[in-house]
Amino acid sequence: MDSIEQIKKAIRDVPDFPKDGILFKDITPILNNHELFKNTIDIFSRETNNLAIDYIVGIESRGFIFASALAMLLNKGFVPIRKPGKLPYKTYSENYELEYGTDSLEIHQDAIPRGASVLLVDDLLATGGTALAAAKLLEKCGGEIELIQFLIELTFLNGSSKLKSYNYSSLIKY
Ligand code: AMP
Repeated sequence: MDSIEQIKKAIRDVPDFPKDGILFKDITPILNNHELFKNTIDIFSRETNNLAIDYIVGIESRGFIFASALAMLLNKGFVPIRKPGKLPYKTYSENYELEYGTDSLEIHQDAIPRGASVLLVDDLLATGGTALAAAKLLEKCGGEIELIQFLIELTFLNGSSKLKSYNYSSLIKY
């Protein structure tokens, strides 16, 4: 079995979490297996081989786990994009649509220098609203988005249609 198959096999489906009707993709069985975790980060890293990246940005909360490990491996700075009210300094904020209502994400205004090349990372692409809001925040900071990386993509939710202006990749598709 190749590494991606092994990683896929470890992802646990949890029905009706966090609410009825959602099939939650639980990635914690990847994280507590050091080989699978390392293989995941190595695969992410290989995809960035031809890119000049200055910063690696993770989306709260599972995006932090992959983005920070990748930042260590690639010797880059890590930048968090967080849920509202969590970042202590001056922030930019971006609202996005949820199934019911809206939510928002924030970034520190000085998180990256203008013109910096960034890699944006999250665990999962569903409808694409989260990743698009994160991308807009990076653009407000003057960042150039080289690539958006996801471990998992739920293709039936068509999130890629929101990310047409960006390069994106996903390792595992359902
Ligand atoms: P979306 O904005 O719809 O693309 O949702 C993506 C965000 O919600 C990511 O940060 C995911 O961590 C989380 N998410 C959405 N759906 C799921 C799911 N089925 N399993 C695990 N996480 C999910």
